[in-house]
Amino acid sequence: MTKTLQTTDPATGVRTLANFVDGAWTPASTEATIEDRDPATGELLAHVPLSGPADVDAAVAAARAAQPAWRETSPLVRARAIFRLREVLDAHRDELAALVTRDMGKTLADARAEVGRGIESCELACAMPQLLKGEGLEGVAGGVDVELIRQPVGVVAAITPFNFPAMIPLWFLPYALAAGNAIVLKPSERDPLTAERIVELAAGIAEIPAGLVGLVHGSHDVVNALLDHRGVDAISFVGQASTARHVMLRGAAAGKRVQALGGAKNSLVIMPDADPALMETGVMGSAFGAAGQRCLAGSVAVLVGTPEQQDTARDRLLAAAAELRVGAGDDPATDVCPLVSSEARDRLVREIADAEHDGVSVALDGRGAAGPGGALLGPTILDDVPDGHRVLTEELFGPLLALVRVPDLAAAIAFVNSSRYGNASVIFTESGGAAREYRYRVEAGMVGVNVGVAAPVAWFPFSGWKGSIDGYLHANGRDAVDFYTRKKVVTTRWA
Ligand code: NAD
Repeated sequence: MTKTLQTTDPATGVRTLANFVDGAWTPASTEATIEDRDPATGELLAHVPLSGPADVDAAVAAARAAQPAWRETSPLVRARAIFRLREVLDAHRDELAALVTRDMGKTLADARAEVGRGIESCELACAMPQLLKGEGLEGVAGGVDVELIRQPVGVVAAITPFNFPAMIPLWFLPYALAAGNAIVLKPSERDPLTAERIVELAAGIAEIPAGLVGLVHGSHDVVNALLDHRGVDAISFVGQASTARHVMLRGAAAGKRVQALGGAKNSLVIMPDADPALMETGVMGSAFGAAGQRCLAGSVAVLVGTPEQQDTARDRLLAAAAELRVGAGDDPATDVCPLVSSEARDRLVREIADAEHDGVSVALDGRGAAGPGGALLGPTILDDVPDGHRVLTEELFGPLLALVRVPDLAAAIAFVNSSRYGNASVIFTESGGAAREYRYRVEAGMVGVNVGVAAPVAWFPFSGWKGSIDGYLHANGRDAVDFYTRKKVVTTRWA
């Protein structure tokens, strides 16, 4: 395997990353770069090239060239390659988790869980020979049989966000390859080091031919070049809702199939009968874990009941959040990690100040020390929020929890369903009836009952609704097989 190309600044020892094209680490054709920093310390980790259309052309051409032979490779052999990828990722679990923590900021425990989720996607993709099997129906007319077969779509581009730098590339790469496709990955420019390492590990697997897996670093120009490129057949995207819409419209206009998973605004409904410990742990993990930078993060707590019951829940949340420890992701004592960058912190501090200006009360204020990297923000709880305020409607993506008070479950459901998003929603209750009513009526694709982060295992689709997805096939589960294959139906009669 080609070694990672080290274009290293001799003065600083900082690398400029390279693209992975046709099995070789290749410098970008452009000069511009952006800085990738450790959010906990502010240390400069790498210069990330803002590649251009020529770099996309090269990676797509190599992918197109490699894909036909890969399609001809037995699905059993392709699955074995993914099995080896699973093994190599497993062997590098700790290294990958440490890289996630360093580059993105989340705690090591969270990073390990994320890498584990990525490995889980490989495990399902190993079942591809079973999942690819078609269907048949004999004798639809005299001597006529019908058979459905699945064939790969061709070249897939995966465009991924910063918040799960290991898991989300692995939502796509194993399935795309196992189904017989080539893939070009465009990781987030804010923390691309884990994706780089995953591609390096994948390229080391003997069965995976040069060119089949490509990686192009960069930002908007790379994304747009992939969306417009005639050599790309399918786009898998995860990121903000506005970017998802752009990706869907531009990709579809270029005739591609597109799955674009977007943003979220998730509510946590707290019934008066909720088990206090389950509720407290669930809300803390959901709202403040990964510093609120998960698409499944609960950012609104809906306190249900009488004013006294609402106050009891609020007081419990305030007390628990005040106990959370804020710090670097590699400190085992940390509960709330840094945000991805100091810019992200600055944006959130402005959001809190604006909310205060609008009459929101900051019941718990996390705007203490920003830490050496300038990216720390403590858990923040907002109360007395005016109806329709942006802290209730917009995805702010930080450790901010807004409180809403409603008298009963019906009002809670009405509030939750008023969101334009529908990624996840959670209810804390000990009542089977309330839980059943909630799961029946709530307009969200992933529902937690006493589970704060309702992330489905890989055998199910990651299944946001409404403004949380453009397109209808999700990541993981059978949706991945449907997205990465084209169905062909053959009707046969023999003389
Ligand atoms: P983002 O939209 O800023 O970036 C995602 C990708 O799109 C990156 O690779 C980036 O380079 C590219 N990009 C960004 N703006 C672009 C533009 N205008 N034109 C072309 N390309 C562009 O997202 P992010 O901030 O990195 O990630 C966080 C977001 O992802 C949150 O909104 C979160 O909810 C969402 N997310 C959703 C899910 C889900 O399953 N629905 C999962 C994880 C994250």
